[in-house]
Amino acid sequence: MSTALVFPSASLLGYPRIGRRRELKKAVEAFWAGKIDQSALEAAGQDIALGTARRLSELGLTEPAAIPGTFSFYDQVLDAATHIGAVPARFGELRNENGQLDLNAYFTLARGTVEIQPLEMTKFFDTNYHYLVPEVGPETNFSVTSNRIVEQFEFALANGFETRPYLVGPVTFLLLSKASEDAPAGFNPLSRLEDVLEVYAQLLTRLGAAGASWVQLDEPALVSDQDVPLAEIQAAVARAYDVLGDAPERPAILVSTPFGALTELLPTLAATKIQALHIDVFKGAVPCADKLALLAGKIVVAGVVDGHNIWRNDLAESINRLEALASAGLTVTVSTSTSTQHVPHDVTEETQLSTQLRSWLAFADQKVTEVVTLAAHLVDPASSAAAVAEATASIASRAGAKGVRRPEVRARVAALTPADFSRSEYSVRVAAQEKSLDLPALPTTTIGSFPQTGEIRSARARANRGAITGEEYARLMREEIKRVVDLQEELDFDVLVHGEPERNDMVQYFAENLEGFDVTVHGWVQSYGSRCTRPSILWGDVTREKAITVQWAEYAQSLTAKPMKGMLTGPVTILAWSFVRDDQPLGDTANQVGLALRDEIADLEAAGIKVIQVDEPALRELLPLRRADQGAYLDWSVNSFRLSTAGASDGTQIHTHLCYSEFGVIIDAIDGLDADVTSIEAARSRMEVVNDLENHGFGRGVGPGVYDIHSPRVPGLNEVRELLDTAVKHVPARQLWVNPDCGLKTRGYAETEESLRNLVAATKEVRAQLV
Ligand code: GLN
Ligand code: ZN
Repeated sequence: MSTALVFPSASLLGYPRIGRRRELKKAVEAFWAGKIDQSALEAAGQDIALGTARRLSELGLTEPAAIPGTFSFYDQVLDAATHIGAVPARFGELRNENGQLDLNAYFTLARGTVEIQPLEMTKFFDTNYHYLVPEVGPETNFSVTSNRIVEQFEFALANGFETRPYLVGPVTFLLLSKASEDAPAGFNPLSRLEDVLEVYAQLLTRLGAAGASWVQLDEPALVSDQDVPLAEIQAAVARAYDVLGDAPERPAILVSTPFGALTELLPTLAATKIQALHIDVFKGAVPCADKLALLAGKIVVAGVVDGHNIWRNDLAESINRLEALASAGLTVTVSTSTSTQHVPHDVTEETQLSTQLRSWLAFADQKVTEVVTLAAHLVDPASSAAAVAEATASIASRAGAKGVRRPEVRARVAALTPADFSRSEYSVRVAAQEKSLDLPALPTTTIGSFPQTGEIRSARARANRGAITGEEYARLMREEIKRVVDLQEELDFDVLVHGEPERNDMVQYFAENLEGFDVTVHGWVQSYGSRCTRPSILWGDVTREKAITVQWAEYAQSLTAKPMKGMLTGPVTILAWSFVRDDQPLGDTANQVGLALRDEIADLEAAGIKVIQVDEPALRELLPLRRADQGAYLDWSVNSFRLSTAGASDGTQIHTHLCYSEFGVIIDAIDGLDADVTSIEAARSRMEVVNDLENHGFGRGVGPGVYDIHSPRVPGLNEVRELLDTAVKHVPARQLWVNPDCGLKTRGYAETEESLRNLVAATKEVRAQLV
């Protein structure tokens, strides 16, 4: 290691890697489609990485190792897996003749093949980003299987930028891994730590030899509660960073701990041979004095600028936190709390937003400037005076700005009483709904959306461009709705949907039709792989000026004598998939959204809609990383859903839909939602969920999905029948509904029709046996 050890005074944990105009998405998808070859894809990746380095350097990250080497073709956890050889046995030999996992192997792990299931995908901590779940077992053959991280470093260096290579840290890697299919019961991936460390040490040595002065090992798992006992994690952390500390010729090590306060494991990390420790002091707090004392020999990289939301930093408050660290005698540098991969690139591109709203926001580029300003402050406090004053004034201007606080909304929320959150007893509702609906046993339905065809997308694009009138667009949507209703009649479904053709996205659609939100044009954020979403900005008090979905539902109902489901997105999901105001508790915001939805439900009822589904696929996603915080979250989230639905009359059947099947901690919350019918995912996990339902004694309607819509595969009639046979063994038939796993919008009509036909046919067979 080199002599005087300095860490850049200003840095970022990571930067968006999709490109300012989603260049990565375009290149990767072109490669998958065979339109460009591997060298063209590599070149596109280099352009993006170099563009990032130039941009960050222009914005002030000029010190060596200040620019994070966080570019990735798909996912940072997959990157780690392909560097250390974590390949599940079902893929066979993916390594090439040199024992390396090349780009094709990389994408095979991410996307699978016709025969082989890809790695599972799961949400990354409390973000809407999905990572690929590595699979580790006793047989996993760890070795260095990629030199990409070294090559990326060398490429940037050759172009004049000494970056800071990034890898998911070894402990987090193993904690995020699941046991491989071949592993014995109870196998803990962490038991492979020694072998993984050997490979990480080799990678560090290679980086050092290539001239890297620093490496960043990201350990977010250390700020969240895990199933593995804490003592075991402490031992793993101590061991990991002692082994890596001894790697020959290695760069200096920064361990980053984003997404919350590093508490129990701070002393453990402080006692290892790492040179710098990043702590999240935005979402977390400044550690207490005795913990700080432990950091005396380390460089403290203070994550004071929020990498996960888009609000402008309160520089004065950040300075307080930095000074609290500095006054403990620590060497302090400035960074973001998390990677900025969770926010869009640049707010100055959103010229359609009001200048006032823009002045409240900071996307990734603005956050760099904030970090640089704060770093300069530590050297020369006078240098930041103007910027601090401007930030303080801007934040103060939010409080009084039009639309931020609407007295009528606040009065309505303040006047809520417990009665506003409860419906009648479930048994009373069931009786009323039996009368109003007259459904057969095992009623069939779908989750809401039908395939979003090229014609629908093109009509929306033309309407947005002004190439067709709003009336023409509405006519095209009505045509599509009629087609979807006719199809369901022909297939003989019991409860119909209108297909949601008019919705670009299940959250953005509501954001565009409610007050208090704005939407962006270029604000794309990676969701997984090449998939990006454009979260809306919830900045003000939420109200509904007029009915949103009623005209479509009413039209759809006019086409059929069967019940038509009204479809709404629930308050928690609207919050989870938007950037949400930070100036009041999330629960208060959720209740405002809940009231807007409650009004919509009243209007749907008045229009003759008797079944209303309020989707909450993101209920689990916002679950806090610390168990101690989970109860309070479940309280407000469940309450906001109840507020939105509890105004419905007894005879109106309220459905909800959740996108996953592992219930664990939240089955009580699902019960608490008090929906009459809950649809969930179950096809991929082969109906395992019915055991949970049975053990819990879940007493209301439930539709465990019998058709996995995440692939074009058509489930056969017998396959659906078997799933239903399993379901009726564990759940009383009067509670059971039959439906796919999720909405059909990403599917094509060919496979959808065939699958739905099998679903109805299988249901009829099972129904006949019941009688
Ligand atoms: N109603 C939505 C749909 O069918 C639900 C989507 C979801 O759960 N993500 O598309
Ligand atoms: Zn779903």
